[in-house]
Amino acid sequence: PDALTFDPAALDWDKQGGMLPAIVQDADNLRVLMLGYMDRAALDATLESGRVTFFSRSRRRLWVKGETSGNHLELVALEPDCDADTLLVRARPKGPTCHLGRRSCFAAAPSNFLAELDDVVARRHRERPTGSYTTRLFDGGVRRIAQKVGEEGVETALAAVAQDDDALLGEAADLLFHLQVLLRARNLSLAEAVAILRRRHGDAAAPT
Ligand code: AMP
Ligand code: ZN
Ligand code: ZN
Ligand code: ZN
Repeated sequence: PDALTFDPAALDWDKQGGMLPAIVQDADNLRVLMLGYMDRAALDATLESGRVTFFSRSRRRLWVKGETSGNHLELVALEPDCDADTLLVRARPKGPTCHLGRRSCFAAAPSNFLAELDDVVARRHRERPTGSYTTRLFDGGVRRIAQKVGEEGVETALAAVAQDDDALLGEAADLLFHLQVLLRARNLSLAEAVAILRRRHGDAAAPT
């Protein structure tokens, strides 16, 4: 994780009996994963080990999330809220975060779907499962994928000019997908292109 930008001693530990609620969010697709509680020892353990650790209120002890399931949460970043009584934890989950087997404890928690699709595309690139359209694209090579992006771009433009909104949305979806595949074929990601947009927008926090 990045260097701490806050002093753990300055958090409002007294407000709720030495514990702070900690909201955990997937660092890559931004899905809200779960809520836990951290006392000072849990926060220190989280920062030292890089594995998100809570104080279990039912078991009255430190609880490394994933200690029995193996579904650890690997720390990416952690920050307090405006009045230092709540923590936001960004992490990479090593498996389903909810003990019911779901990715999030909140059944309908939304996420950035393009980021998830980027993950799927990266996995297809690595593993090349047979029968997958994406595998066939990768096997066809960068030139073929680039040609496909060009075609989808032209189809998108033509649909817009024809004022065919259903076709425009469909072609825009095709374009986004094939663009993700093209970037991945060059070992790049949509996230890197989005980071450029964010920096142009003046967001200094955008990952480089
Ligand atoms: P784990 O930390 O994943 O090894 O799970 C150990 C135990 O902690 C489980 O059997 C549950 O009782 C509890 N637990 C795990 N994940 C959660 C969660 N997301 N929310 C609440 N309790 C959990
Ligand atoms: Zn607050
Ligand atoms: Zn749960
Ligand atoms: Zn198309």
